[in-house]
Amino acid sequence: MSEPSSFRPGLFAGRTLAITGGSTGIGLAIAQAFARLDADVHVLSRKPDHLANAATALQGLGKGKVGTHACDVRQPTQLEAAARAIGKVDALVNAAAGNFPVPFDAMTPNAWGTVVDIVLNGTANTCRAFRPVLAKEASVTNIVAGYAWTGAPGVSHSGAAKAGVLNLTRSLAVEWAPVRVNAVSPGPIDGTEGIKRLADDLGLRGQLEGSVPLRRMGRAGEVAQACVFLASPAASFVTGACLVVDGGQDARGPFGSLLAGG
Ligand code: NAP
Repeated sequence: MSEPSSFRPGLFAGRTLAITGGSTGIGLAIAQAFARLDADVHVLSRKPDHLANAATALQGLGKGKVGTHACDVRQPTQLEAAARAIGKVDALVNAAAGNFPVPFDAMTPNAWGTVVDIVLNGTANTCRAFRPVLAKEASVTNIVAGYAWTGAPGVSHSGAAKAGVLNLTRSLAVEWAPVRVNAVSPGPIDGTEGIKRLADDLGLRGQLEGSVPLRRMGRAGEVAQACVFLASPAASFVTGACLVVDGGQDARGPFGSLLAGG
């Protein structure tokens, strides 16, 4: 379902979005939101079937072009080739991630390394590869998660990597100005693969919804609207920030379940 947009039609006409992890889930919703506002949209991910589905989902949404690039964010040369092929980029979104919940005691060094390599090194690799093609006042948005600052059982690898991405966001916001660099932190987003596993396979939908003060999970389109805002002129003085799009889950804090009955 597409989110109603508060942004003027054609807002990104003549502008280019490049997005890693834009072929599925939240990343695809972000790509679609920019496409509807007439951006040229370039999606980077590894799997040809994901890229083909994304191309179909993006085609005809707006007046901009659609490009797909088979690319692993762990491979700097692949990213550099994609950046050269795309040319000037006005908005870069780092959404690529890998995650598989496992307690730290059962986590192999390989599992830790894989997630950190995709999430933290992949974001740094992408920023480095696209730096030469970023427009003077481009916007970079990194997708993180609330457990970047709280930590959470089962996701120590992803949490540590996302914490690193959040820190990188703030460092680059200072080093790269007037390029603006921000983060978006989604709460649990319904319909995504990771949340389907928790909500449907493990039967935790009620608990997930109950953990959110707005008493529902989020929609990928709601995260997309936050990314559109950060890349838009409306956010021209916003950099080094993290926009939390989680229905209040983080604000609830450690006593939320006791006091709010959730
Ligand atoms: P998803 O559907 O699994 O999307 C991950 C994307 O990353 C896919 O398009 C995948 O495409 C790509 N990818 C994975 N490894 C890659 C690699 N090595 N190189 C290039 N691309 C790679 O995940 P999602 O749930 O929508 O999450 C999107 C972002 O939101 C992630 O950063 C995630 O941490 C964050 N987030 C999600 C939630 C949630 O509730 N779902 C909550 C908080 C934060 P290929 O397989 O084709 O490479």
